Amino acid sequence: MLIPALALAGAGAALLAHGVYEPNSPLFGPVVGRGPREPVLYLTFDDGPNPRTTEPIARLLERERVPATFFMVGRHVDRYPDLARGVARAGFAIGNHTYTHTKLALCGPGRVGDEIARAHAAIVTHTGITPRSFRAPHGQRNPFVRRAAAAYRYRVFGWTFGVWDTARPGAAVIRRRMRHGLRPGAVLLLHDGDGYDPMGDRTETAEALPGILEDCRSMGYEFRSLDRISGA
Ligand SMILES: [Zn+2]
Repeated sequence: MLIPALALAGAGAALLAHGVYEPNSPLFGPVVGRGPREPVLYLTFDDGPNPRTTEPIARLLERERVPATFFMVGRHVDRYPDLARGVARAGFAIGNHTYTHTKLALCGPGRVGDEIARAHAAIVTHTGITPRSFRAPHGQRNPFVRRAAAAYRYRVFGWTFGVWDTARPGAAVIRRRMRHGLRPGAVLLLHDGDGYDPMGDRTETAEALPGILEDCRSMGYEFRSLDRISGA
């Protein structure tokens, strides 16, 4: 019986790993990874605010009347409160992306609660917005994340696909990867900041954005904000 038991343990570990590392796995609570399959896209920007990219990105989106959600890192909000406030004033949604962008998978309930509470407080204090959404850094969650997010009545979001823009492959590559990944109802993941370095360079993402918007529209997609995804 040793082999079946091992196989079962292996399956359990695989399932657990799926819950921890798959951003859209429901194992540790409901998570929204995409919208209904209609010609609609949901833009999200993680890891800001950032002194070089957040403002130009928000301005472009505002000018183009494209809604988006910015999942902000609490300590970046504390460092650049005016940038966070600018995003809020432009009418964009702001979500909680923890205080220090730590990987939560191995964190206990105290640390998880602290990361979420401090980011929540920073966003409320500096923007006047009470965040309604949460995205875990790297998509990593565990049972404590579910509990802490529930305490704030957050909806937890994953994403449909990202384009590794954090690796800075060049604006043209970012645009092309995005175009190839588009599908109905996709939640798109881009980065206006760096989860760890408050000065991290995300100018390639900002440079790619006009072309991305053009591609999405020419393919017949419209943009909506994440809160338009019902259910879940
Ligand atoms: Zn992040």
